[in-house]
Amino acid sequence: MPVTIGALRESAPQETRVSLVPEVADKLAKDGARVLLERGAGERARFPDALYKSVSWAASAGEVLAGADVVLTVQPLTVAQIGELKSSTVVIGFMQPYARAAEVRALTARGITSFAMELVPRISRAQSMDALSSQAAIAGYKAVLIAANALQKFLPMLTTAAGTIRPAQLLVIGAGVAGLQAIATARRLGAVVEAYDVRSATREQVKSLGAKFVETGVSAEGSGGYARELTAEEKARQQEVLDSRIAAADAVVTTAAVPGRPAPKIITRAALERMRAGSVVVDIAAEQGGNCELTRAGETVEHQGVRIIGAVNLAGALAYNASEMYARNLYNFLKPALSQGELAIDWNDEVFAQSCLTRGGEIQHEPTRKALGGSA
Ligand code: NAD
Repeated sequence: MPVTIGALRESAPQETRVSLVPEVADKLAKDGARVLLERGAGERARFPDALYKSVSWAASAGEVLAGADVVLTVQPLTVAQIGELKSSTVVIGFMQPYARAAEVRALTARGITSFAMELVPRISRAQSMDALSSQAAIAGYKAVLIAANALQKFLPMLTTAAGTIRPAQLLVIGAGVAGLQAIATARRLGAVVEAYDVRSATREQVKSLGAKFVETGVSAEGSGGYARELTAEEKARQQEVLDSRIAAADAVVTTAAVPGRPAPKIITRAALERMRAGSVVVDIAAEQGGNCELTRAGETVEHQGVRIIGAVNLAGALAYNASEMYARNLYNFLKPALSQGELAIDWNDEVFAQSCLTRGGEIQHEPTRKALGGSA
């Protein structure tokens, strides 16, 4: 029997992306799988049903949940949706393991095998499956466009008959995937860009994109390529230098994150009050609590003429490309487990082993198990 791979119209009201785009549905069908899609699944990302040529249609989400062997999602399934799955189902998608305890417990209780795209190891072989990176790059790009829109200034230098316009100064805090894309975008638009990250390895990357690296003398190399949390003394030293750069910026894009932890607070109220009126902060870390003390997720706060934009679901603002990239990430992840149209997961493969969140009634990912109090 060929494996049935299902995808839903995402149920979260703010979610515009879809986990399966026509190009990937065709590939799966070519690989011998049966693809089961809920009607209207791709509509909000501008993939109308007519573009999906090689799928079977389900009239409801329930039909997909009960009928599929593998369910591909963008957002985590709800507890109610998990209740509709067969216990042999494999679910693959973003799982937000630290934030969605009830859903993780429901997956465990039902004995579902689930893979969290957040947990795909960041090794070279898995780059084509790295959904955190594909979606973060979109967020970095979009954040700069939002900043440009909110400013009452040009980004580039202009030489006009009415005189010369100075270029805007843009500061990027956090030079991971999102931050680097923000730098590249701001540079293309002609801004003068500075960037800062606690990982010293980013210095060369920042410079190679034509931005200046802010030197604070603090390094926070952590394990696995991520940052660690800083000590109080390190934070104070970092803050001193950063505050002066924040004060000089017309726009600040913040992207700093530490996996499994709230976002570090980097822009204090005092630092904001040193910024010129009309300046803007776009905080990509808003959903993790924000990098700025005044950030409110999903809202724009104005403080002494400075606007702080708590950006959420930025990838969803480019739903078409975001869905394309995400669906390709899912395909590249799943492909090695598809053999002549059947599902065969190699548990010796570190990509499957490390990205597995729940299996056989247990939480497989240790940090999540600990965060949930050790119980399943
Ligand atoms: P992330 O979203 O977890 O964090 C964003 C950035 O914030 C990181 O660069 C981090 O160092 C920085 N940061 C954290 N605390 C900070 C602070 N207090 N002040 C300033 N900056 C702070 O990171 P990410 O974009 O997902 O990337 C994390 C790492 O993984 C990077 O080294 C990246 O190059 C690497 N990576 C590797 C692969 C691969 O090899 N396949 C793929 C993607 C990313």
